[in-house]
Amino acid sequence: MAAVVDEQGTILYRQETDISEHGFDFVVETIAKDVRAAAEAAGEPRLPPIGIGSPGNIDPTSGAVRYSPNFEWHDVPLGAEVEKRLGVPVLVGNDARCATLGEHAFGSGKGTTNFAMLTLGTGIGGGIVADGTLVLGNAFGAGEFGHHQIRATDGFVCGCGKTGCFEAQASGQGLLRHVWAVSPSFPRSALIEGKRSKLGSKAVRRAAEAGDPHALAAWARYIDDLARGLANVIAFVNPEVIALGGGVSSAGDFMLNAVRPKVEVLTTMVPRGTTRIVTAALGNDAGAIGAAVMARRGGLVARTATS
Ligand SMILES: [Zn+2]
Repeated sequence: MAAVVDEQGTILYRQETDISEHGFDFVVETIAKDVRAAAEAAGEPRLPPIGIGSPGNIDPTSGAVRYSPNFEWHDVPLGAEVEKRLGVPVLVGNDARCATLGEHAFGSGKGTTNFAMLTLGTGIGGGIVADGTLVLGNAFGAGEFGHHQIRATDGFVCGCGKTGCFEAQASGQGLLRHVWAVSPSFPRSALIEGKRSKLGSKAVRRAAEAGDPHALAAWARYIDDLARGLANVIAFVNPEVIALGGGVSSAGDFMLNAVRPKVEVLTTMVPRGTTRIVTAALGNDAGAIGAAVMARRGGLVARTATS
């Protein structure tokens, strides 16, 4: 998605294109074309600085994508190539870090000094604002909450190769895996009948809300694992707010009311009740808005006092 964002974090125009192939040149051309089209449609006579939120390990100082499993890219100069085509400064950051910046500037983390964001989508991405600063890490890997192990001996195998990563247990895909894991106990389940290939996490959550016993059993395991990960995040960061974004977070209070008491039980040395767990305010727009914030500030910079 290419979006034009104003200084209040409002999206003025968006242009969405399905990327049909993952070749580097094709993606660069598509980004450049969409940015021009979006700026023109929004009536922007001159292109402003551009921010790109990309999956993978990104070097935000050079705009290079060091590694992106989604695109199977290794060390490609994404920022430099887009900049060459558009002739304006282009900044690149990890998409979850951009989402963290967007939520911190304009969403559920606004005004906080210590903040963490988790996106519970196909995988789990994240970001940390500590003492007013977005934490990037030594090799820009800080905030990769998805790959800390919460069930190293009895969990699902993660896409990264380890067992029981937070992402394997508590992403949208994790919820589906819990459905299949408990399915032997529900031989006449209406939830999975004829849906093996097309069951989605939203359908599971809705069925759980409606009281379907199979969905509820999977949901309970999902919430247990989500609570484990969140308690670990609190132990490492003790933020004022943890915002949950991504598809699964659309469960809202149904999820929050279930997970909050479990997190409290698992929170030990950190004083209980000092981290609020909420759903992200900007939804799927957090990444685009955060990328725009990054472009305007000239980098992945959190500013607690001004926004
Ligand atoms: Zn993993």
